[in-house]
Amino acid sequence: MAFSVALAIQPSLMRAQSAPALNFELTPALVVAGSPELIRIAAPEAASIDGEWLGRKIQFFPTHDHRVWLALAGVDVEGAVGPSSLLVHIHLTNGATRDLTQSITIHPAHYRTGILTVQPRFVSPGPDELKQIEADSKIKEKIFAVSATEPLWSGDFRAPVHAPPTDSFGTRRTFNGKLASIHKGMDFRAPMGTVVRAANSGVVVLARPLYYEGNCVVIDHGLGLYTVSMHFSRIDVHEGQRVAAGDALGLSGATGRVTGPHLHWAVRWQGAYLDPAKLLRLNLPINP
Ligand SMILES: [Zn+2]
Repeated sequence: MAFSVALAIQPSLMRAQSAPALNFELTPALVVAGSPELIRIAAPEAASIDGEWLGRKIQFFPTHDHRVWLALAGVDVEGAVGPSSLLVHIHLTNGATRDLTQSITIHPAHYRTGILTVQPRFVSPGPDELKQIEADSKIKEKIFAVSATEPLWSGDFRAPVHAPPTDSFGTRRTFNGKLASIHKGMDFRAPMGTVVRAANSGVVVLARPLYYEGNCVVIDHGLGLYTVSMHFSRIDVHEGQRVAAGDALGLSGATGRVTGPHLHWAVRWQGAYLDPAKLLRLNLPINP
């Protein structure tokens, strides 16, 4: 059976293509460190598609008509800039496999620097606190190791609170002049007690207090994609609960390592932290 391919639509991507061309589209087209990326491949003859990019496996899923395949992926906020290769394996309905390579240039993002002051116990934790931090790490490792094998999200992601967002994602921060870290989420200026909602459908895989995160809720949206909400004053969901977009998860607060009440909201895909503001701007299809 012949496998027909067409040229990619974006001229900037055509230069980098090796034959045979892949009918391929990336949104957003400008890929930077921290970008979520919707990858679209037109492959009507495909029975399944998987791939690898930046050391991470990508599982594509078909749209309604099975002609176009999609994956939500991304580049970690701390990811290296420069050229990268997306390998795509198109498993055809006739049993054959077609392997294609698409080169993708990752451009630098320009994030800011910030200085914060928090309680000393969050910069120099004591022995008991270190024990809790270690226990927290094990819990997080466990929940992030297993994700649903199909997309649980459907349609656009929406902001988790009605509160002003900040462009704090990617900021290099110093805590009390000591500890440097990168801010891997987006802060919303949510007053104490603001209702925090599910940004999309999924399953609550964590709903409990953690040391740095405070009262924390993690939703698995499938295929390695999670949203993480931190510092709640109250959690109103339980682990294992299925949620729909807009369902209340709890109330915002100031628990954990904070300088005051706010919602910290993070987007994680296969261990990479992605810019939540960019995810909120993506137009995404309704999944079955
Ligand atoms: Zn934050």
